[in-house]
Amino acid sequence: MRNSPTTTNFLSLLVLLVLTACTTNPHSVRPEGLIQAQDHETADLADITTDTLKLAEKTDKENILVVFDIDNTLLAMEQGLGSDQWYEWQKELSKESPCSPQYVGDRFAVQGALYFSSAMRPTQENGAQQVKAIQDLGVSVIALTSRGPDFQLQTFRELRRNNFNFNYTAIGPAGGYDEQFIPVEEGRASLYEDGVFMTAGQHKGQMLSVLLQKTGIRMPAVIVMVDDKQKNLDAVKETFSALNVPVHAWRYTGEDQNVREFNPEQADLLWQSIDDALRQIQQALGPDNYDLSGAVPPPECDQPVSSSPVSGD
Ligand SMILES: [Mg+2]
Repeated sequence: MRNSPTTTNFLSLLVLLVLTACTTNPHSVRPEGLIQAQDHETADLADITTDTLKLAEKTDKENILVVFDIDNTLLAMEQGLGSDQWYEWQKELSKESPCSPQYVGDRFAVQGALYFSSAMRPTQENGAQQVKAIQDLGVSVIALTSRGPDFQLQTFRELRRNNFNFNYTAIGPAGGYDEQFIPVEEGRASLYEDGVFMTAGQHKGQMLSVLLQKTGIRMPAVIVMVDDKQKNLDAVKETFSALNVPVHAWRYTGEDQNVREFNPEQADLLWQSIDDALRQIQQALGPDNYDLSGAVPPPECDQPVSSSPVSGD
């Protein structure tokens, strides 16, 4: 009996907590379907479709937002050269051994030239069908990439070649925004076009949050995020857990083996075999599609230069 007041207080607190939890969620989540944050790994994008279908049973489809990364999630370079893993290797070289003969100098310029001249393949045969299946449910789907707007044309070309179209059920105004914009103070220029948000390596959680505000859409009840990089999933979870929006974070592992087996020597040899030709094309036709002028060894490195820089036009 002595415990009764405490028990009553405890029960009152419990009721209050439950009521608070119910009233602070503005979304029409059906009573049977409390949605919670989840972490998964998969090498099959069909799992994302299945997950989205299950979520659509728990809440209105308008409450779901599915976000796909592009590189090594939907598309991958046809060779190691110019891939995400190549980029990371070059980034490391720029810090650790900028005078290495394998260091290309401006890695963004070289990657731009490679995006222009090379093609991409889907990470799995039916990847585009899986994205389409989610779009056909009427669920909002966008792509969120760390690529910057400089790679806009090459990116859309390869998405199209591989039958990805994020225009169907994208958020925001039809076609996106004509102008690039800086999403956060002192941030880098970004572009949202045809359902593809190009964010130039910025924090993906912040970027997604800014995009939701900019488009003015209602905050989703759940975000399904698919990315091969854990740090990007963590970034989205960080931002949206603070906003009480559960994230189903899917790390896509389908390209892990290619990333692990990346061969720098092979990539370097391939680059050496096309470097001069790409520079000659630029010299003859102009730097409209890429500009390798800055892709030279740092001036402090006293070593033979394999390729002479071009003037740029
Ligand atoms: Mg990626």
